[in-house]
Amino acid sequence: MEHITRIGHVDGATATSKVIRIVHISDTHLAHNSLTPPRPLSGNISIRRSNSVETPNAVVDESGKDAFFNRSTSIESREDEFHKGGVFLSSALRKSRVNNYEVPCGNVLVHSGDFDWSRQSGGLLRSDNFEEIVQVMNDFFDRFPHKVKIFVAGNHEVSLEGKKLLTVQERLTSAVYLYNSSFTYEGINFYGAPYTPFRYMTNARGFIRRAGKIAPHWRDIPTRTDVLVTHSPPYGILDLGTKWTTRKLPKLTRALHSVLPETDCDACGATHPGLDHWGCPHLKEEVLIRIKPKLHLFGHVHECNGVTTRKGITFSNAAFVNAKRPHIFDYYL
Ligand SMILES: [Zn+2]
Ligand SMILES: [Zn+2]
Repeated sequence: MEHITRIGHVDGATATSKVIRIVHISDTHLAHNSLTPPRPLSGNISIRRSNSVETPNAVVDESGKDAFFNRSTSIESREDEFHKGGVFLSSALRKSRVNNYEVPCGNVLVHSGDFDWSRQSGGLLRSDNFEEIVQVMNDFFDRFPHKVKIFVAGNHEVSLEGKKLLTVQERLTSAVYLYNSSFTYEGINFYGAPYTPFRYMTNARGFIRRAGKIAPHWRDIPTRTDVLVTHSPPYGILDLGTKWTTRKLPKLTRALHSVLPETDCDACGATHPGLDHWGCPHLKEEVLIRIKPKLHLFGHVHECNGVTTRKGITFSNAAFVNAKRPHIFDYYL
């Protein structure tokens, strides 16, 4: 079941309002071949508004036919795709074959980083091979019918660190590479930046910055950004990741917790034994107080795939490797 989140001018929407569908994925970590394009392979889709909030907006192709629901699948019947009474679609990321997942139709496909695995993490590609990884990425995006495809690097993109925007963009012809830069589509301002805060226990060190060095990058984000794409979550929002000690020494950690139960977290007030906030406090401040985008897309923390809203901003962590779930947003212009 996949939820479609409506954002933008939803309240004042009329029958003629334009809706742009944004599909968000992240952290595919070389599992990109298990992500398959939606059919039909036409980029000329449009989103037709449904009359009620109870039913999802329809995706129609050039001929006006429903592009998203009327296709036959080998797995399940169309009827099963609707969650009764809600705007849920059944596995928008449908498990069509073993380990194959279909990415939903949309106008824009955003990947918020960690396409690669660093070599130390057992990656198939050598992370120091820039030409090879960009070629694989280009082939990946080329398979998808979305009008616009946007890529922002993550800390596993070690091979992209230090490469100029143009150097990458020249090779990545099938996607827009956002590297401290923006892109406007249908009046929607996208901005992308790849940085994540420094952590001791990681061997993927692309675009990792210590606190003093990371804040200026967030200050560079234009205030008029509608859709912000970063690899890092903001601190305290969909950013609970497994502590290094929990991962490496699970038995010892469990034993410790049984004697010394963890207290409430100072940051969020919840108790989350074995988990830590991996997000960036400086990013949180900029996003919540100054930028206030409609949508903030990120990944990085595999354990925290989800969508949440805070202060009118919709936040999306679409890390793929664990949850195998993309997020869909209907942006009302
Ligand atoms: Zn907490
Ligand atoms: Zn990451």
